[in-house]
Amino acid sequence: MISIDNNLVFTPENINTSKNPAISIILRNQEFLTSKTSDFLIFEDDDLKWTEMELANKQFIGYLNEQPCFLSELTSESKLDENLVLTPLRNLLGRIPDSLFTVCSRSIQLSEWNKNNQFCGSCGSGMNKHETERAMYCECNAMLIYPRISPCIIVLVTKEDDLLLAHNKNFPGKFYSTLAGFIEPGETAEDAIHREIEEEVSIKVKNIKYYGSQSWPFPSQLMLGYHAEYDSGEILPDGEEIDEADWFNYLELPAVPTGNISISGKLIEHFLDLKQKN
Ligand SMILES: [Zn+2]
Repeated sequence: MISIDNNLVFTPENINTSKNPAISIILRNQEFLTSKTSDFLIFEDDDLKWTEMELANKQFIGYLNEQPCFLSELTSESKLDENLVLTPLRNLLGRIPDSLFTVCSRSIQLSEWNKNNQFCGSCGSGMNKHETERAMYCECNAMLIYPRISPCIIVLVTKEDDLLLAHNKNFPGKFYSTLAGFIEPGETAEDAIHREIEEEVSIKVKNIKYYGSQSWPFPSQLMLGYHAEYDSGEILPDGEEIDEADWFNYLELPAVPTGNISISGKLIEHFLDLKQKN
C-alpha cells in the first residue's frame, strides 16, 4: 500500500510512459475500496498478487507522486478481500487530501464514461478506444466521444453583512447552502447566474466576481464559484427546488458546508474572512 498524506502530487495524463512501479485504486459503482475504518487504499501490484477479487476495465489516469496510477473496477460478481469495504466518495469528503479527491473525482468520471459509451449513439455498433486520446470513436463517424463534463454555477449572494442561503428540498435537516444550477446550452456563466437566481429565489444580483472552481463528480459537474451582490427584489423561494431561503447575518449562520468539503463552503468562508478583516 502507498501511504497517504497531504504531500501527494497528482498529474492527470492519458498515456503512461513511465517505467516506475504502478499503483491502483479500486472502485465499484462509484464506491472506493477502503479499509473497514474507511481509510483510503492505494494498492501496489504486490498487494493484489494473491487477491481473489475480480478486477476489470483497467484505465490509466495519471501519475501520483510520479508513479503511474490506474483505476480498476471490481466486477459486480467479485467478492471483497477480508477487511475491505466499499465507501462512497461523499463519505470521504474532507477526510482525504485535495490531490486524492482529484484522483477519485477523475476515476469516477472515467469509469462512468467507459460504462456509458460502450455503443455508438448514432449506429449502435460497439465503440473503440482511441489510441492516443482519452476518447472513444465508432467506425461510422469521425466524431470522438470525450468524457462529458457539465458546467454549473454556484453563487454566494451577499447584501452588506448578510448572506443569502437556501435550503434545497433534498438537503437533510436544517442545512443551508449557496445557490447553484447547470449552465444551459448557449448561455454564458453570467447569464446562468442571473437566470438561476431569479428562477430560484426571484431576486436580481449585480457585481458578479469569479472566485474559483471545483470538480464535483456527482455525477460530472464542474462547479464555477462566484460572489455576487444583491441588486433588487424580495426573496421568494421557487418551492420546487428551494423550499426556504433567507438573509443570514455573517455572525449568526445556520448549518452550512465547510470549505474543506465544497466550494460552497469556501465561498462562505472567504466572505467571512473579508468581513472579519474589515
Ligand atoms: Zn456508429
